[in-house]
Amino acid sequence: MVNFPEHVQTQIETLPRKPGVYLMHDVSGAVIYVGKAVDLHSRVRSYFHASAWENPKVHAIVSEIADLEFIVTDSELEALILEANLIKQHRPRYNVRLKDDKRYPYIKITWPEDLLWAEHFVEQKEHKRERRVTIRSGIGYDAHRCKEDRPLVLGGVRFEGEPGLLGHSDADVVCHAICDSLLGALGAGDIGQHFPDSDVRYAGISSLSLLTRVAAMVSGDGWEIENVDAVVIAEAPRIGPRIPQMRRALAGAMGIEAERVNVKAKTTEGLGFVGRREGVASEAICMLRRKD
Ligand SMILES: [Zn+2]
Repeated sequence: MVNFPEHVQTQIETLPRKPGVYLMHDVSGAVIYVGKAVDLHSRVRSYFHASAWENPKVHAIVSEIADLEFIVTDSELEALILEANLIKQHRPRYNVRLKDDKRYPYIKITWPEDLLWAEHFVEQKEHKRERRVTIRSGIGYDAHRCKEDRPLVLGGVRFEGEPGLLGHSDADVVCHAICDSLLGALGAGDIGQHFPDSDVRYAGISSLSLLTRVAAMVSGDGWEIENVDAVVIAEAPRIGPRIPQMRRALAGAMGIEAERVNVKAKTTEGLGFVGRREGVASEAICMLRRKD
């Protein structure tokens, strides 16, 4: 249930049945929402019907109302323009959120006044552009089964004399987890969608070259890689001494400095498929920054 002050209840009942603009204030007196109405009385009342509270935004607005203010206008158009100007002036929190819903009305420019309204929306758009997303993150995970007579390649580094991993490519779980984190940050699905197992072109391919291709997608979409952090989860071999080499190989494939790539090695202390040396897993996370 929503509780709102009694005097607000009185205000609602006495609202005129005329066009106008209403302003909702919170306890601090800040304007949290501005709206226009053809009929102030019925429009504002509608917020306080229990059925309207099913909408989480309406519920949030109503639960914060401490005071109401209204301005009667001569026409709906006047209310529209006044609303636009008041939104511009107060930038009410819930108006901004509601505009983010992309439910922009169609703007037809007929009257000079309509230009003001149109300008308001252009401004809103520009405001949005200023606030455009400049960083993104992504997560990746991969695991492959251990297989004798296959080379072991982790983070682009070959471990001679160790049992390798089964996979269509060189089964480098670290590269695959990083590729998935980058594709995740781009919102571009996963590695299997871009380099399917069924495609003979990728049979036995070095996963570093897949990473290079994914890094090219990142760049092509207007992003640069801020950093990558990866975990290799393997019971054997000892990975620690080869980490600097992995960082260089991975960074080289992505065209970034080695300092931006971190690799950590973990065992699972004998637990699970990794502990039984049946497979090797990797996790990765990345941060992308928008290029200017
Ligand atoms: Zn894989």
